[in-house]
Amino acid sequence: VRCEVVAVGTELLLGQVVDTNSAWIGDRLARAGVDCHFQTRVGDNIERIVVALQMALGRSDAVVVCGGLGPTPDDVTREALSAFLGVPLVRHDDVLARIRELFAERGRPMVASNERQADVPVGATVIEQRRGTAPGLICPVGAGGSGGAGGGEGGVVYAVPGVPREMTEMVERVVVPDLQARMGERAAIVSRVLRVWGEAESALAERLAPRLGALDQAGNPTIAFLASGMEGIQVRITAKAPSPEAAGALLDAEEAELRSLLGERVFGVDDETMEAAVAGLLRRRGLTLAVAESMTGGLVASRLTSVPGASTWFRGGVVSYAGEVKFDLLEVPRGPVVTEPAARAMAEGARRLLGAGVGLAVTGVAGPGPHEGTPAGTVVVGVALGESSEAVRLRLPGDRATVTQLGAVSALDVLRLRLLEGPPASRV
Ligand code: ATP
Ligand code: MG
Repeated sequence: VRCEVVAVGTELLLGQVVDTNSAWIGDRLARAGVDCHFQTRVGDNIERIVVALQMALGRSDAVVVCGGLGPTPDDVTREALSAFLGVPLVRHDDVLARIRELFAERGRPMVASNERQADVPVGATVIEQRRGTAPGLICPVGAGGSGGAGGGEGGVVYAVPGVPREMTEMVERVVVPDLQARMGERAAIVSRVLRVWGEAESALAERLAPRLGALDQAGNPTIAFLASGMEGIQVRITAKAPSPEAAGALLDAEEAELRSLLGERVFGVDDETMEAAVAGLLRRRGLTLAVAESMTGGLVASRLTSVPGASTWFRGGVVSYAGEVKFDLLEVPRGPVVTEPAARAMAEGARRLLGAGVGLAVTGVAGPGPHEGTPAGTVVVGVALGESSEAVRLRLPGDRATVTQLGAVSALDVLRLRLLEGPPASRV
């Protein structure tokens, strides 16, 4: 079954209200295994709503139209449905009584214009209103069309209110179950995101090319890339199957395939952040962490403390911005500070000073210009773990703010990779 969304409201076209309803409905349809290939936005205008409905039902089996069911003159979805279906609107007394009741319950007077909300196209059924006053509508179209509830072989239009909390309630309670009943055979579409750090999107696509080719042939599951800046690259796997469990099994198999190609570049799944990945590894190994930051000015510590329960493994950090602080407090040997030996000494200093099992340090040149001959974008990350310490030099792109942000995540990634390796460090 294919189902489109038509969001009605001039405010949506003018950008005064963002069309979150379509996004929400799209997500629900996907989870229910319903394909949603088009979503349309149209203003509060009868002729144009009719055109949108004609186009949508011309290529799909069902349409959810949201908005324009209110009492004001600009709410014309009912009139557009009547024109589209070629049937008159009839006022339903029971619906009217229910609207009166809803107003009485809220202790508000009902004005005459609210009576319009009891108008129903002939042949349509009403979706009972639970949160607002406007009822929803189920309008069967075409073969078996005016036969009332359930409809026949033809299409169907569901009309729901534009107010998000009223819309979501009706879609969940009535629209999705009704669509599933029409589908006969159930299907579920589920997605999983693998989050990757340390490689450009093009390089990633090349690495996955053989697998992408095979999947293109098969058509299920599908893979999509989304570069999400500071949060790395997302590789989204989407699978369709008769049940959520079967779709989940397809995702598991595909995740394993992709991980074999991506290896340790995958730092998380779905909403998992880099700092959450680091936290998980520290907890698993029973280690505590201290940081020393120069260029990132506390960003690494800030990200780490955003993880719930951070106090069990995060000792704290030193923002050693001035050279003197690095030399005097962290006992970094005097000399240039964007170097591997300086980064290692910072990591060791933080670990010693704050009594942690692991030390992480970031030093670099955020820009805009070079510093003491070192170009902007140069970042050196130090890690002190167990008996040894090591440093990694990186070149990051972008302006000062970008280099700083990327530097913080990159530092966490260097630590993550080091924690994946072992050897078993002494516990502190
Ligand atoms: P009401 O009975 O409250 O008048 P309605 O069905 O007429 O409901 P609209 O008048 O179109 O709905 O919209 C009511 C409010 O709901 C809008 O002001 C807007 O804030 C919100 N809304 C409408 N459509 C959307 C949408 N597509 N996405 C997000 N919010 C929306
Ligand atoms: Mg309205």
